[in-house]
Amino acid sequence: MIRILQRARPEILTLQAYQHAAWEPSLERLHANEMPWRATDDASGAGLNRYPEPQPAELIAHLAELYSVAPENVLAGRGSDEGIDLLVRAFCRAGQDSVLICPPTFGMYKVSARIQGAGIVEVPLLRELGFALDTEAVIAACDDSVKLVFICSPNNPTGNLADRRSIVSLCERLAHKAVVVVDEAYIEFAGTESITNVLPRYENLVVLRTLSKAYALAGTRCGALLAHPQIVSLLARVITPYALPTQTIEAVLKFTNAAHRAESRQRITTVLAERERLATQLTRLPAIRRVWPSDSNFMLVECRNADEVLRAAVSVGLIIRDPRSNPSLANCVRISVGTAEQNDRLLHAVAALDTAAAGDAA
Ligand code: PMP
Repeated sequence: MIRILQRARPEILTLQAYQHAAWEPSLERLHANEMPWRATDDASGAGLNRYPEPQPAELIAHLAELYSVAPENVLAGRGSDEGIDLLVRAFCRAGQDSVLICPPTFGMYKVSARIQGAGIVEVPLLRELGFALDTEAVIAACDDSVKLVFICSPNNPTGNLADRRSIVSLCERLAHKAVVVVDEAYIEFAGTESITNVLPRYENLVVLRTLSKAYALAGTRCGALLAHPQIVSLLARVITPYALPTQTIEAVLKFTNAAHRAESRQRITTVLAERERLATQLTRLPAIRRVWPSDSNFMLVECRNADEVLRAAVSVGLIIRDPRSNPSLANCVRISVGTAEQNDRLLHAVAALDTAAAGDAA
């Protein structure tokens, strides 16, 4: 057993996994209490009357190829949200263990920890350094209770990548101690390599990828957890038996073929151009104090008055995110890059705020 698994919950290490109906495609299925006929007009490939294959071999091989890892490194789940949940459940004992997060960051790490009854250790990102990781403070805060360290790169909602050397250093210095979970939901927009290429070197590294963002498949609810095969096997015992629906499996295989990957690359280029245009134009508006640099398909924007900007967006039929529940994000909004037309509409609405303010002053 790899050393980091000794940090998993002992009862999960010894868990007798649920014995789902054996996957024997060459035999006719009278072993899963299914109906032998499809519903009329069921046009799915496999038939919705049948339970799907757990961790389907074709999908796993496909995701492994997409993310340049071996199939044994892949656990497919319902979005990366499920990967986060599985990690917390498998590693953290309620009332005893903790996760470490670096706020402001993606909210589900904390929510999953709370649901599990795990503690939350917070080491804020360094705002004055562009929301950089405070690597030394993370190491110092990793007491024996900390089982998982969540690093979101690029980070939601600040948009910036974490420094790669810092992540590698965390993997090295926390080896045998804590799992370093790098959430790369937005990595395709960053124009840099995924940290996945050092996966073979670090048993305590877990990378989360998703089809929800760059591949435009949020509705399929499919994500991939990439890790050492022993971590994958452990989590495969915890995941619900037939986790991925047949429609998800078939849609992901269909919409991530070569043509769709090319389409995704093209659209990323468009998003990046629009991101730069939106950022440049927002920066010029008096209602906007600051646009934080982004490596993602969204940007964090500090406003003169965030309520005004949120209302201006709604007034032209758009909704942007209010991230102000985080104390370090006073007067900020988070804007996802839209189509050129949507971005223009938002820009006009925010520009009109300035005209109105100038009118008030006059
Ligand atoms: N990680 C990050 C950083 C996110 O922003 C999101 C969704 N907004 C997720 C994970 C979850 O994505 P999904 O479950 O769709 O893969």
